[in-house]
Amino acid sequence: MLSDPAINELLQNLAKLYVQRLPKEVEQLQVVAHELAEQGFTSDLLEKLGHQLHGIAGSAGTFGFHEVTESTRIVENLVKALTENPESEVYQHNLHGLIDDLVTQLNEVRYLDPSPNTSVIDPPRYLPNQPHLWLIEDDALQAAEILRVLDQFNYSVRWFESFNVAEEAAKYERPDGLILDVMFSIEQINIAEKLTRESPLMRLGVPMVFISASDSFNARLKAVRMGALGYMLKPLDYPRLIDRLESVLEQERQIAYRVLIVEDDDLQAQHYAAILTAAGMLVQTLAEPTEIMDKLADFRPELVLMDIHMPGCSGAELAGMIRTYEEWVSLPVIYLSAETDLDQQLMAMGRGGDDFITKTITDTRLVASVRVRAARFRKLDSLMSRDGLTGLLKHSRIKESLEVEIARSERNSLPLSVVMLDLDHFKKINDTYGHAAGDQVIRAMAHLLRQRLRKSDIIGRYGGEEFVIILPDTGSEIAEHLMTDILRRFSDLQFKDEQEEFHVTFSAGIASTADQVTPAALLAVADKALYLAKSEGRNQVRRFTPRNRLNE
Ligand code: GH3
Ligand code: MG
Ligand code: MG
Ligand code: MG
Repeated sequence: MLSDPAINELLQNLAKLYVQRLPKEVEQLQVVAHELAEQGFTSDLLEKLGHQLHGIAGSAGTFGFHEVTESTRIVENLVKALTENPESEVYQHNLHGLIDDLVTQLNEVRYLDPSPNTSVIDPPRYLPNQPHLWLIEDDALQAAEILRVLDQFNYSVRWFESFNVAEEAAKYERPDGLILDVMFSIEQINIAEKLTRESPLMRLGVPMVFISASDSFNARLKAVRMGALGYMLKPLDYPRLIDRLESVLEQERQIAYRVLIVEDDDLQAQHYAAILTAAGMLVQTLAEPTEIMDKLADFRPELVLMDIHMPGCSGAELAGMIRTYEEWVSLPVIYLSAETDLDQQLMAMGRGGDDFITKTITDTRLVASVRVRAARFRKLDSLMSRDGLTGLLKHSRIKESLEVEIARSERNSLPLSVVMLDLDHFKKINDTYGHAAGDQVIRAMAHLLRQRLRKSDIIGRYGGEEFVIILPDTGSEIAEHLMTDILRRFSDLQFKDEQEEFHVTFSAGIASTADQVTPAALLAVADKALYLAKSEGRNQVRRFTPRNRLNE
């Protein structure tokens, strides 16, 4: 049973619909049996029968009627034997007998309860776009400072002045992460000593960052033992604190896996979609193989579950076709089929599939198989497409994304804006504070952009200290407001070097599809606007408008 009762009900209803549909399948089976008796065991008829049986084995397996699957497979094997030896009278006689038995069994299915592929599948917890943190800090001034910075980065934070109150709250609520000052000077307690595994705060099991004025070995060891994922020293270096929080929360910020199910049988497609959706995945189904390339471009799945037998084109052929597009060479394609013949399976995999799952698989194993493969795809894809320092999209990928997003915005008649952003006087930052400090600034820029923009916005590191942002569904005026707000927050941010504190600014240029529609032209115009922002004094956002035409 899945943990969601609504999904269970849906699955049961699908199984009922399947049972209602069975008499029609029985009828078709009897038609072919009749034709065999009339016309003899021709290879055409045997092939037709084979396909029918294969379909029944698969769908019965999907809906939990495993005995039907077993019986059907026996008949299937006999059909294979007959195909090779059509004259055998024993085979011929047996086939008619077995089909009769199967028909009887199929007619009785409606009295059976499907054996559910019993399992408990818990969807993962997804981190909201705005993570909710608890700050446990007795020093009000320090707390105010932390709250201010975290707010800049769009975290929602609840402040607890008292450790005990936080412990009490932990019995009823759960934040996405904890920031904990381990030395409470006012209450004269060392939190690290009060913290035990039994503390309700520890039992939350959420990522924790400790902050402390003491850098003793023992204090750090204690923090590690309590499961702290970060240990920050006072006075706090805020960009580093954010950096720490971001990487700590990163593992939790899992976005749902996107799975495409290609299956011509609607009931089965719905069945698998329901299971994967219950496991927290984003699922779309496709019944029409000819639409596969559009669907891939539009939905951008991280895994395809592919039926083998479909009208017009086989799953193996479809997988082979997907592989002819460079873009989709590494996309995992898993066949979901009634096929148990290893040779057949291997042949299908030779065409471009990665694995084979039979339709009698349990829900739990299906979910696990899909998760493992989608996770590996995501990891590899991210290594290839994301920049190591910031985790943002690389230059080449941002251009691809821009093309896709422009097409999408045109289809939906929505505006789209592109921002080109460059840090100001960055050479000087590097020269004065060192390259490592420069890297820290670049990361802070990335975090701020990620936290303040929507999930659907696309952020890329275009060059060293240059960023490109794609804002779908956003006109240039709104983009300008948005970027101006980010500009202000960024310039507010205090960076730290051993000796002194410093601030960094950026300049940005905006272009929108109201003016230009090709990726190259949009980028060129945004770049011009950026140039204007630079030449007019930096630390500002400029947008291309028909009126200013950027002094063309
Ligand atoms: P401007 O305001 O005109 O943009 O001045 P600028 O000094 O930022 O000029 P420019 O954009 O030409 O210089 C970019 C500098 O950024 C050059 C390089 O040293 C530095 N940079 C590029 N990539 C990185 C990086 O990954 N890390 C660090 N620390 N510095 C980088
Ligand atoms: Mg099919
Ligand atoms: Mg620069
Ligand atoms: Mg530059």
